[in-house]
Amino acid sequence: VTRILTGITTSGTPHLGNYVGAIRPAVEASRTPGTQNFYFLADLHALIKVQDPAKVQRSTLEIAASWLACGLQPDNDRVWFYRQSDIHEIPELTWFLTCVASKGLLNRAHAYKAAVDRNRAEGLEEQEDHGITAGLFMYPVLMAADIMIFNAHKVPVGRDQIQHIEMARDFAQRFNHLYGEPVGKQYFVLPEAMIEEHVATLPGLDGRKMSKSYDNTIPLFAPREQLKKLIFSIVTDSRMPGEAKDTEGSALFQLYQAFANAEETDAMRAAFADGIGWGDAKQKLFDRVDAEIAPLRDRYETLMAKPALIEQQLLDGARTARERLGTPFMRQLREAVGLRDLS
Ligand code: ATP
Repeated sequence: VTRILTGITTSGTPHLGNYVGAIRPAVEASRTPGTQNFYFLADLHALIKVQDPAKVQRSTLEIAASWLACGLQPDNDRVWFYRQSDIHEIPELTWFLTCVASKGLLNRAHAYKAAVDRNRAEGLEEQEDHGITAGLFMYPVLMAADIMIFNAHKVPVGRDQIQHIEMARDFAQRFNHLYGEPVGKQYFVLPEAMIEEHVATLPGLDGRKMSKSYDNTIPLFAPREQLKKLIFSIVTDSRMPGEAKDTEGSALFQLYQAFANAEETDAMRAAFADGIGWGDAKQKLFDRVDAEIAPLRDRYETLMAKPALIEQQLLDGARTARERLGTPFMRQLREAVGLRDLS
């Protein structure tokens, strides 16, 4: 079996980008025979960015309800759905990996480098680490532990995450070399990034990547009226109806494409060339998105009214994943590095 793993950070309300880039393809993949699927709410990751407990809790419920509303059917045998922080082996493995991770490699991680660059740009060359937590710095190690505790083979990610998967491979190789080779064992498989070429990175309302951190999102389950308002607020250029419009670089077109089939996309491309007015184009986008989301939104509302049911599913997911996989594997790893045998 191929083990596939995907997580969403519980740092805010899930948005159309999370749906198109993660939830929709993952739910489809979970129906493929011959795979084991691990879907989790990355709440330990959320702590790197969010220090508001109510927000983390709310986000956890919203993201969990979203996965289930979009058709995820956890069976705790082939499809697991859980909260990262309920898998106690993850922070423990994070420490094991921290002790084989090269600091120099972590210095080169994109998220950390971007934070350093921001400080430098603000004239803080002397204190380039100003305001950067060790949590942000260590983020790739935590991510490696998420993947490696279940020895996942494939991790569907956006291009910006390839580097983190390469780091996980590096930690896996070092661990295998240090502790596996002397006893003829290969503890970790080397995970691979699965780049979904056909899955677009959705732009947000301001044209940058749609992201919980940028406050530029269209929430996946915004009420209908709000969805309409947000879609009508997407930034467009000042071309008038009758003037041909560029599909290239148009956030509106990219969003449409992510929800439409090939035929509908071609028709929209032709409408752009024919000078469709922005208002009409936005109406078409709204109709298309709402047609796909409306039935899911009803299920979402029902689920959000039953948090205890969601909680039970998450707890069952974590318990069975630990019993079957995480705990026995961690025993092996503890033995490998020379810690007390827990059994
Ligand atoms: P944050 O701002 O907290 O980093 P995010 O909204 O950018 O959050 P994550 O929770 O880090 O997203 O990512 C969860 C999944 O959603 C990942 O698989 C990621 O590739 C996907 N994703 C996030 N934003 C987009 C987007 N704009 N377009 C397509 N996929 C996206």
